[in-house]
Amino acid sequence: MERNEAKENGGINLKNWNIRRAQIIVTYDCNMNCPFCINYKLGKKRKGFIKVSDVVYFLQYLKYVEKLEDAIIVFLGGEPTLLPIESLKEISDIAHNMGYKTEFYTNGTLKEKILELDGYIDFITFSNYGKGILPFDNMDYLYDFKKSTITISKLITKQFFKTFEDFDRFVDEANKLPFNYDFSTIQETTPDFELYQPDWVESKLIPLCENQDVRGNVGAALYKGRLIKLPHVHLQRKEDICTLKLYPNGNLNTSWKNDNMEIEYKEIINELLKKNI
Ligand code: SF4
Repeated sequence: MERNEAKENGGINLKNWNIRRAQIIVTYDCNMNCPFCINYKLGKKRKGFIKVSDVVYFLQYLKYVEKLEDAIIVFLGGEPTLLPIESLKEISDIAHNMGYKTEFYTNGTLKEKILELDGYIDFITFSNYGKGILPFDNMDYLYDFKKSTITISKLITKQFFKTFEDFDRFVDEANKLPFNYDFSTIQETTPDFELYQPDWVESKLIPLCENQDVRGNVGAALYKGRLIKLPHVHLQRKEDICTLKLYPNGNLNTSWKNDNMEIEYKEIINELLKKNI
């Protein structure tokens, strides 16, 4: 079957794309209300959960694109654990059955549900928006996970780390924990970026390699062995940069800025099914 022509792929030329992570935003809903949340612009008024049937279409589309043999399907929100636990397990099972690994980002507040996903999701990443070394107080349950790989991801803001020395001390504490620990800075597209970005980031966190730069931006830094995603980060190589996003409304897009349909993936799959390919 001919492929890789922009027309055939719903308007996007996928040639040379080497997608490693595809994202499924399972809901905009969240039980927190962080001021820097990207949903503030995109989805605050939107409600609802992703349909399993849309996930199936999407994963079939990824197979059609044929670039994702070792890909990770990342479930994001909002807060994904607001979905019924059966739905989370079901979409993770579907992804596994199609040969993908799964990852899941959570704010960590719904302990019982998250623990139940141990082993169903390959990688569980806890966003640390609190002041402490763990995402919140009372999160010792992180030590109870037996199967999933646990990562804590801390956001660098001037509210948490006023000075570089504050950050340095925190990294020393993080390095004592038995979990993966990484850091990211607020993305430049976030509303009120300047309110959150500490002054010291640019002078102290030196990008690993300017050659990783895409679209004129820089990549990531390493500090005391910890990965730090910088503003406008693209960790992937140039041909990897396209990260597809399936939105709760069933639309497929490559941007965080809107959830309009950019790729007519269902039409493509329906055509293939009609032709029995
Ligand atoms: S926990 Fe995450 S999704 Fe929820 S409001 Fe905060 S940043 Fe947004």
